[in-house]
Amino acid sequence: MESFRTTPPNLFSLPPRLKRLGELAYNLWWTWNPDAERLFKLIDTDLWEQVYHNPVRFLQQMERARANAVSYDRYYLDLYDRVFRAYDRYLAAEQTWFKEAYPGLAEKTIAYFSMEFGLHECLPIYAGGLGVLSGDHLKEASDLGLPLVGVGLMYTHGYFSQRITEDGWQEMRDFKLELRESPVALVYDQDKNPLMVFVDLPGRRVYAQIWEIRVGRVPLYLLDSNVEQNEHHDRALTSRLYNSDPDVRISQYILLGVGGVRALRAMGFHPRAWHLNEGHSAFLGLELARELVEQGMSFEEARLKLREETVFTTHTPVPAGNDEFPTWLMDKYFANLWPELHLSREQFFALAHNQHPWGETFSMPILAMRFAQFCNGVSELHGQVARKMWHFLWPDREVDEVPITHVTNGIHTGTWLARRLRALFDRYLGPDWIEHVDDPLMWDYIEKIPDRDFWRVRRHLKRKLVHYIRERARARWIPGGFHPVQVIAEGALLNPYALTIGFARRFAPYKRANLILNDFDRLLNLLNSPNRPVQIIFAGKAHPDNEQGKRLIQEVYRAVKLAENGGRLVFLEDYDMNIARYLIQGVDVWLNTPRRPNEASGTSGQKAALNGVLNFSVLDGWWREGYNGRNGWAIGNETDFDDPAEQDRHDAESLYHVLETEIIPLYYKKRSSDGLPGEWIARIKESIRTLAPAFSMRRMVKEYTGKLYSPALEGIQVDKVGR
Ligand SMILES: *Cc1c(COP(=O)(O)O)cnc(C)c1O
Repeated sequence: MESFRTTPPNLFSLPPRLKRLGELAYNLWWTWNPDAERLFKLIDTDLWEQVYHNPVRFLQQMERARANAVSYDRYYLDLYDRVFRAYDRYLAAEQTWFKEAYPGLAEKTIAYFSMEFGLHECLPIYAGGLGVLSGDHLKEASDLGLPLVGVGLMYTHGYFSQRITEDGWQEMRDFKLELRESPVALVYDQDKNPLMVFVDLPGRRVYAQIWEIRVGRVPLYLLDSNVEQNEHHDRALTSRLYNSDPDVRISQYILLGVGGVRALRAMGFHPRAWHLNEGHSAFLGLELARELVEQGMSFEEARLKLREETVFTTHTPVPAGNDEFPTWLMDKYFANLWPELHLSREQFFALAHNQHPWGETFSMPILAMRFAQFCNGVSELHGQVARKMWHFLWPDREVDEVPITHVTNGIHTGTWLARRLRALFDRYLGPDWIEHVDDPLMWDYIEKIPDRDFWRVRRHLKRKLVHYIRERARARWIPGGFHPVQVIAEGALLNPYALTIGFARRFAPYKRANLILNDFDRLLNLLNSPNRPVQIIFAGKAHPDNEQGKRLIQEVYRAVKLAENGGRLVFLEDYDMNIARYLIQGVDVWLNTPRRPNEASGTSGQKAALNGVLNFSVLDGWWREGYNGRNGWAIGNETDFDDPAEQDRHDAESLYHVLETEIIPLYYKKRSSDGLPGEWIARIKESIRTLAPAFSMRRMVKEYTGKLYSPALEGIQVDKVGR
């Protein structure tokens, strides 16, 4: 490909022997290779924390004397050389899984579109699970050698940064991502000007520049409308993720879908498969059709051709969660397009028409399905729910024949596994175990790890979590402005030896963060048991316009602040991937209480399982597939009640009962021979053995490749009855 990519500006003053740290800083490969991370951290641990693990800012602010010092340190230089040997081998690898499995497809490109990417805490351009899934997907695509390129938007103000007032009300804190201090690089054209693409919005043309993020071997391109060619308010179009203003939202989707295609074209990519991760990017189908119609095809020919190349993943199990636009808004933004597609207004609207009792809308997922023959949900149950939900689009078929399959989500092992555990696995599972994470038989070796060694690491991870939380609380306390109760709410009184339960995710009402507060006196009894204390750590953000979600945070926070709980309930502000990593590695039990079947998959529990944390969850999403009766615990069963209040009571009763009769006794039950909780450890091993391979991102991306990408790349028509 002719390339006008940026080389990262050489901003750093580094000793010649350590020069390549500048290169490493601009490739997120280091985020899933802990030895590579240590190359930064070992130079100045405090600064590494202060810059929030952003290697670019780190190298900009680092004292040269510190770098000079390590450049004479034998241990450091050995590590440095080892890391760069691995890095070079990785980037230059001729043989990858994809090339071996699909030798004929290696030269073709898969374009992967997503509204958010959760790659690392230093790039806060994600809101939750969808983004983290996209980020993990890119990392695994890189590991497996998929010819994939990511496309998204650059939100310079991120999602938002969360503050909790003394009364538990969520506030937004101003936040700005300094791109010159981040591991992103601007894309230039041949004349060394920033490469620009444009989209036409009502009455004006809006331009966007393109940022590149290197994710191992995979590039990710993010469009950014903050350029001087644009009017003031258009410069802010891409500043924030999930704006509720419909004009901003539709403009963002146009930038992502239409602008994203144009950006790929401008950089010389010719994707042969298109993956829409959720419906936000569905306008890309219209842009691709426009290109083909311009070349002389009819719209219908174009659409049928594009169907063969397009994959659509839905993540939304409830009709109300799907993105739709009112017809007046579509008229405002697309009236110029349908003539170009040789369509009438009626034909255009029929593409994504959705009828509600209150009126008609233009539905993004319906549009996506019109252009994609490969559609999938993200767990087995979600596949069923999606087939039922969209059955009306295929009225002449049985529900089971609705062409939506499922690929259950997974997580990227290297990103989420604690370094200490990785070292333990290296020792007992074989040095190249991570190349076989999706092989269930390989995981049988987990039994070889002595309980004592295993438990030592588990205890270390919990102490590390408690230490981190207490230091955070202290840092809040020192500058003043916080009430002492808030410092306790942030976890100042945590006990590193008590049974610790984690609950952290977006505060969407269906996730029922307050379920465990349902019978507060019963809960207090458990928390304050003198010999068998329990503590619970909550974290999570509510969408800024979701009042119900914010009230849920407040309800939890008010319970957290009560003196009677003895500081054993904690709410951590500003949940992100960094806090997520501490929690899913450090707690003992990972709690999830969604109202079935609203949790399309969920992934945080998969991260926890990999690290030896036991899941305790409603049988929804991935857990319905993962739970086998011996590798964690279930809340409730698969009965669904019509009345939500009754469902809540039923699930809460089950939650307390299992805690009281199974989880707490098992955790505190020590073997007399060695004082270790033998049965608990056995359960952890069973959990890792059964869940780590099945819910790895490696299994997931291989499955996407086999079921969806490879037929799309080959242009195979699988569903003859194209709509
Ligand atoms: C993994 C992750 C999520 C997804 O959590 P679920 O419990 O699966 O919804 C959300 N936010 C962050 C920061 C994560 O790391």
